[in-house]
Amino acid sequence: MTAVTVFAPAKINLYLHVTGRRADGYHLVDSLVAFADIGDRVTARHAPALSLQVAGSEADGIPGGTDNLVWRAAQLLAEHAGIAAAAALHIEKNLPVASGIGGGSSDAAAVLRALCRLWRLEIEVATIARLGARLGADIPVCVHGGAAWVGGIGEQIEPAIALPEAGIVLANPRRRLPTATVFKARTGPFSDAAERFLPIPTKAVELAAALAMCRNDLTVAALTLVPEIGNVLAALRQLPGSLLARMSGSGATCFALFADRESAERARAELAAAEPGWWSAAGALIAVNPIGD
Ligand code: ATP
Repeated sequence: MTAVTVFAPAKINLYLHVTGRRADGYHLVDSLVAFADIGDRVTARHAPALSLQVAGSEADGIPGGTDNLVWRAAQLLAEHAGIAAAAALHIEKNLPVASGIGGGSSDAAAVLRALCRLWRLEIEVATIARLGARLGADIPVCVHGGAAWVGGIGEQIEPAIALPEAGIVLANPRRRLPTATVFKARTGPFSDAAERFLPIPTKAVELAAALAMCRNDLTVAALTLVPEIGNVLAALRQLPGSLLARMSGSGATCFALFADRESAERARAELAAAEPGWWSAAGALIAVNPIGD
């Protein structure tokens, strides 16, 4: 095997309740995390030393070298395995940076999985997730890959319901929003964890109805920092076939759910024509992180 490519999907917080804060400042969350078939692609090849190249439409401003989560994840894995961190890494960056859809975390999870295969390491997924957690709270759920209920600061992961078929449109106003800044701006009381959806929704419209009972508790704080998020949410709600529109993570990316991929693609074309300055993409929710060579 000379090269391994792993898809790094956008992480979507279908809802996000902030349930408390630990003494060390980390916030506690309750979230249903899903993944979309819109994402980056991370490739690892055999090479005598560690190197990293970033290309793609969203590559601008992505840190190269040791500041990149992918680089740090590779070093951590090599250290854990007791081997040299030798690989040529490449990221095809399609997800906008610092936008609430976990691009960096998903890239880091993807490189951990890619290098396990390239270096022929047999490490349990839970161990890889724990390694990833040392670099970022969102990495463990990305390592697991499928939709999951996430608790604690991101380390409590319970595989979720198989999500129904659903189309998704992602959009943001091209304003970067660092996660820590949004958590700092959040005020007010903490929320309770949401009730688990039982029975499991089998249609997108039922999933949207269940999600309507929940919130993204970071929306108000994000709106004060980037008011354009309000325009994005309004535009997503008005798209034909839109079942639910909400912000993901700490923003500024928002999503809308649709009955299927085709409806999402049609709606996205309409949105892109009306708002050419925004970043947007259409696809479908995925149940499991697809891994390919
Ligand atoms: P989350 O939803 O997990 O809060 P996010 O989508 O808001 O994350 P990312 O795109 O993951 O944010 O980027 C967060 C920070 O990580 C940025 O400041 C960026 O410079 C840094 N970073 C390091 N490596 C990467 C990478 N491979 N891709 C994107 N950002 C990276």
